[in-house]
Amino acid sequence: MSKRAPEHARFARGERHAPKHGAMLAEGEQGRTGHPDASGARSAQDAAMSERELQDAVIDCAQRLGWRCAHFRPARTKDGWRTAVSADGKGFPDLVMFRGGRQIAAELKREDGKLTLEQLEWLIAFETAGAEIRVWFPHDLSSGEIERVLRGEEPT
Ligand SMILES: [Mg+2]
Repeated sequence: MSKRAPEHARFARGERHAPKHGAMLAEGEQGRTGHPDASGARSAQDAAMSERELQDAVIDCAQRLGWRCAHFRPARTKDGWRTAVSADGKGFPDLVMFRGGRQIAAELKREDGKLTLEQLEWLIAFETAGAEIRVWFPHDLSSGEIERVLRGEEPT
């Protein structure tokens, strides 16, 4: 029997790993698996990209390719950036996109970002309901991975 903690517990501790959702996370447990650079080093450009810059680029690409995109914009509050949500909205994916019969729920992260437990739970809910789910980092943009997925050139 595996001694590893359940995925959700490991996520809650901020560990990064490749869960059963194959393409969901771009990096493995050691922060390397699946990374385009086998050394694990990230490009300075990827490391410097903000989540907002990544988001703008993904939305631009998606809209050019005919996707209908929804993003709920955070607002600056006295406690930092917050998105106004209620009910179970905390952790709702950054982008929910539709094109034809495809739906993608995407959580965007800075190169060193990590999923929260609430974000993971939302992605699992979307996947359970039949959506494609993705967690995208700047290196997924620079490598062309995001555009490939949006074009439908990658099996889901
Ligand atoms: Mg995000």
